[in-house]
Amino acid sequence: NKYVSLKHHVDGHPSESDFELASTPLQPAPGSGEVIVKNLFLSIDPYQLNRMKRYSSSHTAIIAASKIEPGQARRIDAYGVGKVVASGRAELEAGDVVAGLLGWEQYTVVRPGTVLMKVDAKDLPLSYYASVLGEYSLHLHQIKEHKKDGPNLLTTATGPSGLTAFAGFYDVCKPKKGEKVFVSAASGSVGSLVGQYAKLSGCYVVGCAGSKQKVDLLKGKLGFDDAFDYKEEADLKSALRRYFPEGIDIYFDNVGAAMLEAAVANMNSFGRVAVCGAISEYTNAGKRAAPDLMDVIYKRITLRGFLALDYLHLHEQFSAATSDHLRHGRMISLEDVSVGIESVPTAFVGLFRGDNVGKMLVRVGEL
Ligand code: NDP
Repeated sequence: NKYVSLKHHVDGHPSESDFELASTPLQPAPGSGEVIVKNLFLSIDPYQLNRMKRYSSSHTAIIAASKIEPGQARRIDAYGVGKVVASGRAELEAGDVVAGLLGWEQYTVVRPGTVLMKVDAKDLPLSYYASVLGEYSLHLHQIKEHKKDGPNLLTTATGPSGLTAFAGFYDVCKPKKGEKVFVSAASGSVGSLVGQYAKLSGCYVVGCAGSKQKVDLLKGKLGFDDAFDYKEEADLKSALRRYFPEGIDIYFDNVGAAMLEAAVANMNSFGRVAVCGAISEYTNAGKRAAPDLMDVIYKRITLRGFLALDYLHLHEQFSAATSDHLRHGRMISLEDVSVGIESVPTAFVGLFRGDNVGKMLVRVGEL
């Protein structure tokens, strides 16, 4: 069983040399409550970097509780889709296709207590269940030490991009037809879906991304009203003024730092900002967003952070609506698929270089 492990903590930009490929014999049979899964598609997610950092007291409890320790003996858990090889659970049998917390490895021994959901891919590609239609996978961590009021269970796992985009856009941003929406990292997994939900809601949508090819894709294939390459802009505030002469009503923030500051400066009164991610800050501890709070106060702007975890109750509604949009071609799921367990480090590091277009996945095995 080949797997990828973390050599040392990562502070700053990750690189391929932070990881190594190792191999161990696979456990021959599952124990009670365990399931041996052959991994097919792994979801590669930016938040994993925050788990790889050296622990500091500034980490929020949820990251501290799920940190990834270096060392060959440690596995890196990750959301994915796989096929059951052998099951120690009554509700699963060999051959079932499942989604849940698997790992950066060819086979995962899923331990008792980690939820696996059966996948019935029907008329949509199986990869969608590791990307746009992924469910929230529960992984329970005891974090007694972080809470004064006794034991607490926190759930951590990948935020599936579809539910994140859906809940963040509809619940946090509360869009109205005709509103002006700005999306950053717009050609990425979450951003590309947010832009499409916004168009389906009758909004005017502008996205930013890190290359001309991505900008063309946003305007051509994804139906954004406009898009720009933020790397070509010397002054983000004036760039946004150009793209939003009447101001921004909704900003869906995937990147934080300077872009968040520029967006807040261009927001209209009663504007809403969904703070979904801050990828530009994950690689640089010194870079922190500092939006002008006078703007926030006098324009009565709502800045709200959220986690997909808060929206499990919307999963059914999200999944029915989104599957229908995908089936009828009203939405497109963009996927960027690398092949082979060896390609995981490059796929992961590439997220922070902007290599990916759409959801970054690694195809680890064949059905
Ligand atoms: P993406 O598919 O968007 O991939 C990351 C993209 O971010 C890259 O392709 C790159 O595109 C862009 N990027 C990388 N570095 C920078 C930088 N320094 N400045 C600006 N853009 C950068 O990833 P996801 O869709 O999976 O995640 C998007 C965001 O949403 C992340 O911040 C992630 O942590 C967050 N997230 C939050 C969840 C929640 O529950 N709140 C759940 C899931 C994700 P480009 O070429 O445009 O630079």
